[in-house]
Amino acid sequence: MARRKLVVAMMMHETNTFSPVPTPLGAFRPLAGEAALEEFRDTNTQLGGFLQVARELGAEVSVPLAAGAHPSGYVERGAYEDMCDAIVGAVRAGCDAAFLALHGAMVAEHVDDGEGELLRRIRAVAPRLPIAVGLDFHSHMTAPMIENATVVTGYRTYPHIDMGETGQRAGRTLVRALNGEVEPVMVWSSRPMMTSTLVHAPSRQPMKDIMDMAIAAE
Ligand SMILES: [Zn+2]
Repeated sequence: MARRKLVVAMMMHETNTFSPVPTPLGAFRPLAGEAALEEFRDTNTQLGGFLQVARELGAEVSVPLAAGAHPSGYVERGAYEDMCDAIVGAVRAGCDAAFLALHGAMVAEHVDDGEGELLRRIRAVAPRLPIAVGLDFHSHMTAPMIENATVVTGYRTYPHIDMGETGQRAGRTLVRALNGEVEPVMVWSSRPMMTSTLVHAPSRQPMKDIMDMAIAAE
């Protein structure tokens, strides 16, 4: 089999739309290529997990963007466009699949659903591209995110300690799909509830039973 070509990228921000502090590109410390590989290889991050799966696969890897900022206000329009362009450009150049480390709560000045819009743009240039997405536990799931990805999975711990594992799970599930071993199907809905983040820990009730049921259902 020919060596698979993967686009592996990270674009992470937990946007607080109440914060007056805008988030420029510089806040993301964007890296690419060899610099990104050196920074993230063998780290307990989603990107580290994805790179591990890519290595096991013996894949050719392109890292057009590795960018993450601390929680702050709206992502500046130019920053969002530059980051999306880097990822979409790499996909357009040709690849067999994409591994994306996202947060799931990005809001830009001109885009409410940062992750959904990124995925929509990727599928616009590569309609059938298999895409694995890893998310933080604290994400705003949206229909465009589910419709424009093949595999979406997120952290299962809070405080978060399973970032690398999450990237590996997302990547390995997509590889199984590429190999024709599984056909991932995602079902998504939102409950009409406002819950306190202080009782979200999946290791404690009431979340424990809910998380255990979700994991068993997979
Ligand atoms: Zn979180």
